[in-house]
Amino acid sequence: MPIGRGVVMSKLVPHEENLTARYAERAARMVPSEIRSLFAVASRPEIVSLAGGMPNLSALPMEMMADVVKKLILDNGQEALQYGSGQGHPRLREQICEMMALEGIRAKSDDVVITTGSQAALDLITRIFIDPGDVILVEAPSYVGALGVFAQYQSQVVHVAIDDKGLIPAALTEAITKVRAAGGKIKFLYCIPNFQNPSGVTMPASRRTEILDICRESEIFVVEDNPYGLLGFDEAVPNAMRAEDHENVIYLGSFSKTIVPGLRVGWALVPQGVKEKLIIANESSVLCPSNFAQLTISSYLAHEPWRDQIASFCALYKERRDAMLETLDAHFPASATWTKPKGGFYVWVTLPPEIDTKLLVPRAIAAKVAYVPGTAFYADGFGSWQMRLSYCHPTPERIRKGVEALGNVIKEEISRRGGESAKALKN
Ligand code: PMP
Repeated sequence: MPIGRGVVMSKLVPHEENLTARYAERAARMVPSEIRSLFAVASRPEIVSLAGGMPNLSALPMEMMADVVKKLILDNGQEALQYGSGQGHPRLREQICEMMALEGIRAKSDDVVITTGSQAALDLITRIFIDPGDVILVEAPSYVGALGVFAQYQSQVVHVAIDDKGLIPAALTEAITKVRAAGGKIKFLYCIPNFQNPSGVTMPASRRTEILDICRESEIFVVEDNPYGLLGFDEAVPNAMRAEDHENVIYLGSFSKTIVPGLRVGWALVPQGVKEKLIIANESSVLCPSNFAQLTISSYLAHEPWRDQIASFCALYKERRDAMLETLDAHFPASATWTKPKGGFYVWVTLPPEIDTKLLVPRAIAAKVAYVPGTAFYADGFGSWQMRLSYCHPTPERIRKGVEALGNVIKEEISRRGGESAKALKN
């Protein structure tokens, strides 16, 4: 009886509450990042957003990109619009090796697996290696998107201190000793050696060697995440860590910052033993990375002056970095300190410890400027008096305006607190 069956069926359709009660344990760790919740506000046109890390595509000639896409579809649409291989397109994998050679990496294209942005590589590597409770060593602070992945696979993140030269070797050794003494199982060190997100700092070559030595001796492998490496403004960037150690480093790369993020093409360069698992994991997520996106990038690299394009991106970001640093000098209080990035997108600011940068967000928004509070970049709630400022997107004029407004908000808060503590002392 169709009607009777219909009634029974509708009873079986679970209520939304029933569905949420059935989530897997890992779903509890799927929470929006602090950056995501800020985006809606930060994207209002009257707000100067120093929050998001979106690449600035104003320097990219769109007609040229349109020509690349049109030519690709007309000449090779049958392949570009078809499914492809789970490992990624062979020609693009060769071009990736040519690009990585700029960072001293000598690699075979057979060791490259192309992924849907390097974010997907991070997810797949974590899926392959992490059991619930396993420890991942992570810079303090670190990339919010990596922390999200690590949380979802129920790992335990242990932060390792950094200074203006990146990871501190002694702090790494101490963390390894402590975790092991407590019976923890360390799987890998995740680090961003160039123009780190969020701190903007870069590890000098000697530090890289020290960190690699410690990891090798401690039998921990390194996941080197390097989306910003070619965006240096001031001086040559040291070779990638993978250039020095091809056995103990998994290298993640991306075209998001050097070409465009919207095509979602990144990659992992992995030791042979890991490659097969990574391809299978990639296939189970997406069957194959987009052939269309890969071949667009591949044609662009083959026919367009991509090195010059990266140079124009660098010029654009350098001008914005300079505007930010100058305005910080002029308008931030003397009690604040900040990093001086030599490339990439970010400046990391540390305020006096009594200032809570999360509580300050509404006042900054009222003053028409947005930033990301420091706690977003730690797994353990640390960093409440820190903040990340991105200079990649707004114009230099808007950056000056936004940083000045933020400086005023912070100074007001410091003097308000000074007034309050003076009052408390009197009472
Ligand atoms: N790693 C770091 C350090 C990043 O900053 C980002 C993006 N902001 C990614 C990985 C992911 O980049 P994509 O997936 O676009 O390659």
